[in-house]
Amino acid sequence: MDKSLITVTSPLLPDLDDFHAMLKEIWAGKWITNNGSFHKRLEKELAAYLKVPFISLFTNGTLPLITALQALRITGEVITTPYSFVATTHALWWNGITPVFVDIDPSTGNMDPDKIEAAITPRTTAIMPVHVYGKPCDTVRIQEIADKYGLKVIYDAAHAFGVEVNGESILNAGDMSTLSFHATKVYNTIEGGALVMHDEQTKKRIDYLKNFGFADEVTVVAPGINSKMDEVRAAYGLLNLRQVDSAIAARRQVAIKYREALRGVDGVTFFDDMPGVKHNYSYFPIFIDAEKYGMTRDELYYRMKEHNVLGRRYFYPLISTFSTYKGLQSAGPENLPNAHKMADCVICLPMHHALNQENIYRILNCIRK
Ligand SMILES: *Cc1c(COP(=O)(O)O)cnc(C)c1O
Repeated sequence: MDKSLITVTSPLLPDLDDFHAMLKEIWAGKWITNNGSFHKRLEKELAAYLKVPFISLFTNGTLPLITALQALRITGEVITTPYSFVATTHALWWNGITPVFVDIDPSTGNMDPDKIEAAITPRTTAIMPVHVYGKPCDTVRIQEIADKYGLKVIYDAAHAFGVEVNGESILNAGDMSTLSFHATKVYNTIEGGALVMHDEQTKKRIDYLKNFGFADEVTVVAPGINSKMDEVRAAYGLLNLRQVDSAIAARRQVAIKYREALRGVDGVTFFDDMPGVKHNYSYFPIFIDAEKYGMTRDELYYRMKEHNVLGRRYFYPLISTFSTYKGLQSAGPENLPNAHKMADCVICLPMHHALNQENIYRILNCIRK
């Protein structure tokens, strides 16, 4: 029996010959970073693909979070979710901002809008939600609350590449949205990321900030950082953009097969597609009810591992339990019951464009008894 390793994800890689042709062009031009032609082309093509007015490329998905907070001059307290990758909260911490955790809605895994108002204090300046697993947040409700209290909204949209609600990009919600193009994401530039904004003025400011604050050769307008994407990765990104639609279509087929097979399994639940939403199938989380399933989440996780099937317990442990954050008042488990419950029963199944029928069969066989 085939026991080859099945990993939770596998990077989408451009064709090597195509990449080589682009490298030759870069070598010939000898312009390898600092807003070169591939960088400009990728920004243009990504804005069109994602249906957003302005985008600024970054060297990873964490620096756009940090830079957005700087650009909007966010201070004091920011309301956020503990059910995410640590970078979301770390970006606040690096800006000297106190994260205030609110619980999630168990039907989506996203920040529960009903819990936001109670967490607002005179020090609150912004809300930083996450579209977890690429499932859109209730952006309308969140904006209403933000407007009522005069708060900014920055979405960590690292999982939401290409996600649309009723034909409109989810990345247009809030004041800004951030993307990650890390190797493990739906669309990757090896390492990379971006910030999406609504107007040219803001893009200009962001472009200064990601280049040390330089507005021209001799003018530094702000204490910027260096988070520019280079030409090699921009070229790689242009090639991957050509095949990301077919990668998402392949992921969708995997999701359909998982759902078909798991619908009848007692004690296993999962998310269905949401009406009006164009999903990107970035993750396939399942949730284990140990009593009904007859095995705990961790028992299943290790059984899968024995069969060389590597799921991941995203997002366990919760960010609020890490040493930096666990002393915060809002980090108490009594404040976050739904987040704890989800973190304790989740496994993300392998999900990528290259899973074949046999892989899927092996994965499902670990879960079905
Ligand atoms: C991947 C990820 C990030 C960080 O992106 P990097 O490109 O790895 O820096 C931030 N937030 C979330 C929710 C992520 O999943």
